Amino acid sequence: MANNCSNSPKETIKIVDKIREKIKIKEEDFVVWKVAKETNDPFKILIATLLSQNTTDKNALKAFWRLEEEIGVEPEKLAFAPVKKIGKAIKIAGLHRIKAEAIKELSQIILKEYQGDLWRLLKSENSREKLLSLPRVGNKTADVLLLMLIGRNVIPVDTHIRRIALRLGVSNQNSYTSIQRGLMKFLKDENMLELHLCLIALGKTYCKPRKPKCNECPLADICKYRRLIFSENH
Ligand code: SF4
Repeated sequence: MANNCSNSPKETIKIVDKIREKIKIKEEDFVVWKVAKETNDPFKILIATLLSQNTTDKNALKAFWRLEEEIGVEPEKLAFAPVKKIGKAIKIAGLHRIKAEAIKELSQIILKEYQGDLWRLLKSENSREKLLSLPRVGNKTADVLLLMLIGRNVIPVDTHIRRIALRLGVSNQNSYTSIQRGLMKFLKDENMLELHLCLIALGKTYCKPRKPKCNECPLADICKYRRLIFSENH
């Protein structure tokens, strides 16, 4: 794994602080974190993660509470609810038919294999592999659950974090594992949950896919992409 950043761990330890100086991290901007803080329930967090795919956190949160209100976000309830009814409750989050089918399927599996208690899976050996064997659960979702519920020292890599990591230069490969390893090597002294939230917030406000606001960015002094752009223009 190449680590192209030249900064020492002593410098990088301030990344969360640097971002927090410029961006206010609000619970309501992170549907999964908000649900995690309010419920500490792995099944609800899993459903919130699924709802948050391809939509805004605001709409995912609305869909989550609507689902809670109209059916209840519990495997025992969702496993037996009609897909149409689930879809109607979560419509605001988009892709509602696909998501409704996935929610029902996940509920049935968790009910059958873990007696409706996802903690059984999380506390078992090979919990990551078992999470990844569930339908619609990928690396990011598995790591979100492991980080937020059992404090595993991992950083889940979403689309914002992937983009920032590549621009910072912590990995020269685009795979999930390479980016995660690169970030964790470079930022090993950070709190991974805080780092996860801060980098997502940075991706939404400064390090956007197009026209990143490098001149105002709190990480400008340690960013490889910014150095390249700067040297090309001078
Ligand atoms: S300096 Fe620019 S490219 Fe680098 S992290 Fe900030 S916004 Fe992204």
